[in-house]
Amino acid sequence: MSSAIINGKEIGQEIRKSVAQRVKKLKEQGLTPGLAVILVGENPASKTYVANKQKSCEAIGMFSELIKLPEDISEQTLLDRIRELNTRKDIHGILVQLPLPKHIDEDEVIATISDEKDVDGFSPVSVGKMMLGQETYLPCTPFGVMKLLEHSNIDVAGKHAVIVGRSHIVGKPMGQLLLQKDATVTYTHSKTPDLPSFTKQADILIVAVGRAKYITAEHVKPGAVVIDVGMNRDENNKLCGDVDFANVDGVASHITPVPGGVGPMTITMLLENTVQAAEKTIAHDKIN
Ligand code: NAP
Repeated sequence: MSSAIINGKEIGQEIRKSVAQRVKKLKEQGLTPGLAVILVGENPASKTYVANKQKSCEAIGMFSELIKLPEDISEQTLLDRIRELNTRKDIHGILVQLPLPKHIDEDEVIATISDEKDVDGFSPVSVGKMMLGQETYLPCTPFGVMKLLEHSNIDVAGKHAVIVGRSHIVGKPMGQLLLQKDATVTYTHSKTPDLPSFTKQADILIVAVGRAKYITAEHVKPGAVVIDVGMNRDENNKLCGDVDFANVDGVASHITPVPGGVGPMTITMLLENTVQAAEKTIAHDKIN
């Protein structure tokens, strides 16, 4: 029997509909949520990601502003542009598309985005708050994975979640969010010996490695939930995940496809975070 598909496209659409309703409500109060997206240089993949983010904002009635900066921009000028956006009333979220050119310190750039507008949830303050379970903007991809699980009625409490990958933007925060929902979490990475001996123990297996079709049936416990964060190109230049879908299909109880799994959720959660940031300014204005 085939594994049940966790359809991120459908779940994402459902969430976007409710986010669009909130945008409508905000607009009736005279406020249009606004996202500023900074793109440095001409990286083709970054350009595509940014275009998708802008299109998604516009589709639900949000304002989005693309700030295109040259590859050779100085770090100081970039930081000044961010500080200026930090003060703008029409901008509620700021996103700097990564990676940045080598001469720019990414950590410094991210730390300069004000906490109130860090809708990517990457700044040290946002990460610290997330670790402490305090209210903050959650990093969009792991946040999206949590929503996929929730919408698929997969309760993570008491389950063993194994994460493959420990990047700052996916693996590490993913484990934290699962831990907060009472999963028992194991992290694995490139220095983990005998990876299948760990992944085979997973009730929930989350894969964020960046290697096409790397995870096969030998890594998966029968009946496990498999979430594939990977986005790669296969030998035919077709988009594929880190999981060999055809090989794992039927072993896992549930699986996310690529495309149409985690991918659509990342932008959805960016919209959610930006609308939340706009809603907070209204709540804040009412108090003051
Ligand atoms: P990353 O920063 O390159 O991190 C990859 C992680 O995988 C590292 O922690 C690395 O371990 C680990 N790893 C590498 N080879 C391994 C192996 N053989 N066995 C076990 N672990 C191994 O990548 P990322 O940013 O987390 O992204 C991962 C994938 O998700 C990529 O395909 C990316 O395109 C995709 N992605 C998708 C979305 C989305 O919206 N769907 C969002 C973000 C990323 P070390 O730490 O030891 O090096």
